Amino acid sequence: MSELTRLTIAEARKKLLVKEISAVELTDAYLAAIDAANPQFNAYVAVTHDIAREQAKASDARIAAGKAGALEGIPLGIKDLFATRGVHTQACSHILDRFKPEYESTVTANLFADGAVMLGKLNMDEFAMGSSNETSYYGPVKNPWRARGSNADLVPGGSSGGSAAAVAAFLAAGATATDTGGSIRQPAAFTGTVGIKPTYGRCSRWGTVAFASSLDQAGPIARDVRDAAILLKSMASVDDKDTTSVDIAVPDYEAALGRPLKGKKIGIPREYRVDGMPDEIEKVWQQGIAWLRDAGAEIVDISLPHTKYALPAYYIVAPAEASSNLARYDGVRYGLRQDGKDILEMYERTRAAGFGTEVKRRILIGTYVLSAGYYDAYYIRAQKVRTLIKRDFEIAFDAGVDAILTPATPSSAFGIADQDMANDPVKMYLNDIFTVTVNMAGLPGIAVPAGLDHKGLPLGLQLIGKAFDEETLFQTAYVIEQAAGRFSPDKWW
Ligand code: GLN
Repeated sequence: MSELTRLTIAEARKKLLVKEISAVELTDAYLAAIDAANPQFNAYVAVTHDIAREQAKASDARIAAGKAGALEGIPLGIKDLFATRGVHTQACSHILDRFKPEYESTVTANLFADGAVMLGKLNMDEFAMGSSNETSYYGPVKNPWRARGSNADLVPGGSSGGSAAAVAAFLAAGATATDTGGSIRQPAAFTGTVGIKPTYGRCSRWGTVAFASSLDQAGPIARDVRDAAILLKSMASVDDKDTTSVDIAVPDYEAALGRPLKGKKIGIPREYRVDGMPDEIEKVWQQGIAWLRDAGAEIVDISLPHTKYALPAYYIVAPAEASSNLARYDGVRYGLRQDGKDILEMYERTRAAGFGTEVKRRILIGTYVLSAGYYDAYYIRAQKVRTLIKRDFEIAFDAGVDAILTPATPSSAFGIADQDMANDPVKMYLNDIFTVTVNMAGLPGIAVPAGLDHKGLPLGLQLIGKAFDEETLFQTAYVIEQAAGRFSPDKWW
């Protein structure tokens, strides 16, 4: 592995601007690392060598001309959910076979406008449905972390498993990801990386393949808090093409790092202490509380009483929206087509062959909860619960809380093909117990590494903030990072 790939975005940016390194050199170092290691990890489903080199060359020219953008020459991996013009965009589903969009997503367009270089498209759970990256049509991704003294392969989390693994294994300087119920924060926690799901509306959803439109948000996965701040600044924007994007100026998130925590009130929700949670998670949580207190924050106990309904309500709202969003994949407009004797049979055969088991499960659940006779009992009720969950947070913030500290996940990374998870989808769904509430309420949440468990695997803490107050999350996460240090896996690949 080249030393160049070890540079953070902030470090690489400095070296590029003073021409100590070139964007082409940096990009070539990443491409070489990917070519050597991707067969092991399966983190990339498409590597865009030519585009990357072209973009890097253009970056070097802009740097030479004194016209460098905020991310000039920085090589990134892009989750396969983002439409990239002329490039593999399949949400890691068979049903989008060979789909290459005619247009660019707003998030990737923003990154490229700031000078970022695209290394390729990253593996993910099919249509972002999953917590282990195992539902991908392209197969699982390996976590670069292994338990101490073990060779067993672990999942990197999901759905942004490729993004998290690529960043942790030094196969990208940073990555785009998306989070509908935890898909940025859980894989970040499983790989010792930093991931932020911004406020709903902070990043445009235009050109991001839709899963559950009222919950989906794009955000970055990065090696540290500063890099996450740099990436989010470029990704976020208001956008005429997404009416749910919000017209609030994007602040300089980096400027929030290092601000003193004195006077900040951090809420600790008692409902996040769940049955069966390993002691180590509790310990890391207590450690996080101590670090923030030592840094001058005031710690207060809070109650979010509707937390226990968040997961069941999510598994009504998200599949309902998914079943509607995924109706468009019918064999006519994009990707796969399986011919039949008439158009109905063609639809049926295409959808049967094109969607994987988990996606079919979601479509079935979604169609059921939306069907006449059940709509009020399930969907309307879940929407009411959603309002109550949102209100819990509003009450805490109205009482003066600035951010809420919780564990990011109920465990560290588990094994690929873990039988417990494979046999019981609800066990898999429980991975998101601490993260889905945040999507239901539309709030920002950041996962930051806070320590290692007894197996030597990373554990993350989550900070939840007020709407459009990502700055406080970066500020507070930076304090945790300063105290905990940064974590990278021992190289075995
Ligand atoms: N794991 C959750 C699910 O499967 C969340 C996924 C996501 O955030 N995209 O729905």
